[in-house]
Amino acid sequence: MSGTNAFNLAGRLALVTGSSQGIGFALARGLADAGARIVLNGRRPDALADAAVRIGAACVAPGYGLGLFDVTDPDAVEAGIARIEQEAGPIEILVNNAGIQRRQPLDEFPVETWREVMRTNLDSVFFVGQAVAKRMIPRGHGKIINIASLQSEAARSTIAPYTASKGAVKMLTKGMCADWARHGLQINAIGPGYFETELNRKLRDDPEFHAWLCKRTPAGRWGKVEELCGTAVFLASSASDFVNGQVIYVDGGVLSVL
Ligand code: NDP
Repeated sequence: MSGTNAFNLAGRLALVTGSSQGIGFALARGLADAGARIVLNGRRPDALADAAVRIGAACVAPGYGLGLFDVTDPDAVEAGIARIEQEAGPIEILVNNAGIQRRQPLDEFPVETWREVMRTNLDSVFFVGQAVAKRMIPRGHGKIINIASLQSEAARSTIAPYTASKGAVKMLTKGMCADWARHGLQINAIGPGYFETELNRKLRDDPEFHAWLCKRTPAGRWGKVEELCGTAVFLASSASDFVNGQVIYVDGGVLSVL
């Protein structure tokens, strides 16, 4: 623990996957505000460079793409993690955030799109989680935060593969805890409700969906990405050292009401 503040992340190295925009970017900035050093990740060099500039000095080696790799490619993941550890030091916090959503009725859902969703939302959590955890285990500590979803608990029409992938992320979080907690790692998940990002831009622009969401959500509105940061900082910090295998839903109350 650094200092007397259990939430202080001073000097800790955090990798946030899918952090060029949206929730990943907000979480990277939130962890940086709590003192962490940040490695961003994504597939678009320009977007990563822009994000690095916006985060500023906390960002490790901004602009030259230390975290430029595709999380669905296990060889690229292993090479990427090895390079980060060699050039920036041990990863102490991993946020598995990269994810996509594809919408189509399940009876029409193309097989290759199913695979793309599973590769991005589920396989990547295993690939990056394993590559980082095998380095954390000998060191005896580490924090892994997987980004699950409201859809880890409840389905909606046209996104069944997304729902299946996020349900699996919830259980993979518990499986990681079962294998790695004894080695001093804490593995938990955050389940966001509806947040305004590129991922759901079409929904956000649909007045009917917007009205439904505001009525359905006890808080009466969309979430703001910054509202996920407190939970991430808690799960990344020593304040949560005996919290393991949990999913914390940050959803304005959606899951609490019918
Ligand atoms: P965005 O579409 O805004 O951002 C997705 C990020 O993931 C981008 O930075 C993208 O960068 C990156 N990414 C996608 N595929 C890959 C890949 N193969 N390798 C590396 N990076 C990748 O989405 P959100 O911010 O909304 O979503 C982030 C996470 O939060 C997802 O897991 C999503 O399922 C989850 N979530 C979102 C909710 C919401 O309401 N927005 C609700 C519940 C969960 P690039 O394309 O440059 O690689």
